[in-house]
Amino acid sequence: MDNLNPENKKEFYPQACSIIPGVFPQIERDTNRNGKIIDFTPTILPEDLKVKITGRRTIKNKVDFNNKKTIVSFGRGIKETPEKNIKLIEKFAKEIEAEIGISLPISKKPYIINENLSSTYMIPDRVIGTSGRKVNPLVYFAVGISGAVQHIAGMKEAEFVISINPDAEAPIIDESDIFIKGKIEEVLPLLINEIKKYKEKMQIPQEIK
Ligand SMILES: Cc1cc2nc3c(=O)[nH]c(=O)nc-3n(C[C@H](O)[C@H](O)[C@H](O)COP(=O)(O)OP(=O)(O)OC[C@H]3O[C@@H](n4cnc5c(N)ncnc54)[C@H](O)[C@@H]3O)c2cc1C
Repeated sequence: MDNLNPENKKEFYPQACSIIPGVFPQIERDTNRNGKIIDFTPTILPEDLKVKITGRRTIKNKVDFNNKKTIVSFGRGIKETPEKNIKLIEKFAKEIEAEIGISLPISKKPYIINENLSSTYMIPDRVIGTSGRKVNPLVYFAVGISGAVQHIAGMKEAEFVISINPDAEAPIIDESDIFIKGKIEEVLPLLINEIKKYKEKMQIPQEIK
């Protein structure tokens, strides 16, 4: 190290390395070691500045999950009547003031539906999981989602998880506080109805348009 010359750019070329935590055992702290401080004023030549920052723009997500206490996510379980089911999910989400998330395959627009609905909901911005967003709402509804590890990684911090799925063997059951064994088409209308009745009884304003 003593022979290193800061002017020799080959020796000091920017280098980066990333290591996953836990790969190497932590070494004991050695307080006898001292770093060597080298005073150095770099000479920057025009040819060194190959990259020029001409502007900076922060890309904001269109979908704001952070400000919602409840998220309703749907997956390929909508497949039998996709358009009808998305409208049902949309209605349910409005009723409980939730944001809508999706599983990754839905972002690939696997079903042909009304363009307006697909461009609103079948978009990468709504994907929950390793390829999308990590969320931590108070309540997370997984509707027609099997519960693949990549999806779980995005929602496992949710306080309370409610799933709707006809398959009691679906892995999402292990992440659920409440598992409703049933189809979207059957369960959501019942829930919407009950919520409406509850709001009426408690005099809470109905669905926010
Ligand atoms: C590198 C990599 C990264 C990935 N990243 C992500 C990611 O970030 N997010 C993500 O979600 N996935 C991700 N995936 C994909 C993931 O592995 C799964 O394929 C995906 O999550 C499955 O989506 P799904 O649950 O919608 O569909 P499926 O696995 O097909 O599940 C559909 C579920 O719907 C149920 N169902 C069927 N009919 C009904 C009905 N009428 N009503 C209610 N339920 C019904 C079924 O029983 C089933 O459990 C990734 C995969 C890879 C390889």
